[in-house]
Amino acid sequence: MVDGGRNGPENRVLASHTPATPLLNYSGIMSHDPSARRVQFRPSVDRMAGYVPGEQPQEDGWVKLNTNENPYPPSPRVIEAIGRAAEGRLNFYPDPLGREFCRVAARLFDVDPEWIIPGNGSDEILTILLRTFVDPGQRIAYPYPSYVLYETLGEIQGAEVERIVLRDDWSWPMEEARRQLQECRLLFVPNPNSPSGNRFPDEDLLGLLPDRGVLVLDEAYGDFCDEPHGGQLLKSDSAAGRMVVTRTLSKSYSLAGLRLGFGVAHPDVVAAMRKVKDSYNCDTLSLAAGVAALEDTDWMQANAARIRQTRQRLVEALVSRGFDVVPSQANFVWATHPDGEHRRRFEALKAQRVLVRYMVFPECDPVREGLRITVGTDEQVDRFLEALDHVGS
Ligand code: PMP
Repeated sequence: MVDGGRNGPENRVLASHTPATPLLNYSGIMSHDPSARRVQFRPSVDRMAGYVPGEQPQEDGWVKLNTNENPYPPSPRVIEAIGRAAEGRLNFYPDPLGREFCRVAARLFDVDPEWIIPGNGSDEILTILLRTFVDPGQRIAYPYPSYVLYETLGEIQGAEVERIVLRDDWSWPMEEARRQLQECRLLFVPNPNSPSGNRFPDEDLLGLLPDRGVLVLDEAYGDFCDEPHGGQLLKSDSAAGRMVVTRTLSKSYSLAGLRLGFGVAHPDVVAAMRKVKDSYNCDTLSLAAGVAALEDTDWMQANAARIRQTRQRLVEALVSRGFDVVPSQANFVWATHPDGEHRRRFEALKAQRVLVRYMVFPECDPVREGLRITVGTDEQVDRFLEALDHVGS
């Protein structure tokens, strides 16, 4: 399937005409025929297309630069911690609050452990935020183009979703944004943004705090910034209690397969979030691994530094081949070519077992499309460039 961010324009169009997913009847037979339907879904679920994550081929042999994973393995201390935890208390439930993990994460942000809430990936923290702050019919917002999952999560919650269309140079249309934000309960902002990789200026972010809502700074890629920060904005006077930072161990800590992320917020906000989360949302092995990972930040920093170096090389190589590349503070780059042949390149690369992400954002005027390329190892980037030259750039 060609991947257009969340659904791609194809799915989005489909969604308004036919159910995007096959219908399941009680005999277990999948059918696209509505007359075969035996059960009624929530209308909002019927209408939505559903989020389509990037492809995850399970066999070897791919150069996989499509879902922003870290090409380097996690710290050996993580593997040891998982082994120890596996020999321990798997017959018991985990600590529902993951308190040991909270203690370690809190140290990184220089806050009390009550400021931390772990989740099954940072995606789960986003879900918890919607459940905490948004009733059906209430409004949320996110910048467009960015992480389209926000929109799906909003739809699941029955929220009205406001897209704030970014300018051509990926900056905020501040006046327009302030207007759109007036009734918003939540504004989600990936920082650095995806797919563009740019980091938004702090003053813009503070200027975007919704009057009657919360700004969620999704820092999934925060550790790849040239000058990473440890939640200073969150502690600024103007943001107190109105901002939540989300972090993940999937990217910089090389643990996408584990599913662990966390939120950092004022303890009152965390207390409300704890009310709506699943009782045991993080398992014993993930929590043990997470503690070990966050205690070995040197390992993470060394990998992030390598990725920043390779990022520079990748950008230069793409520019020399005629691409426009947005200066990136993340572990991926957004590349567009004046000839507009992004889909052809994506498919031709895939035929050579090199996977990047082809994305289309149809709600932009003009429609935006391009390739989002994860920064892999130097060898992977070489193989990508070789394949790209083969395709003709
Ligand atoms: N936020 C952004 C902007 C992302 O790109 C991703 C990864 N798809 C996530 C959050 C979720 O990361 P995870 O659930 O693996 O922590």
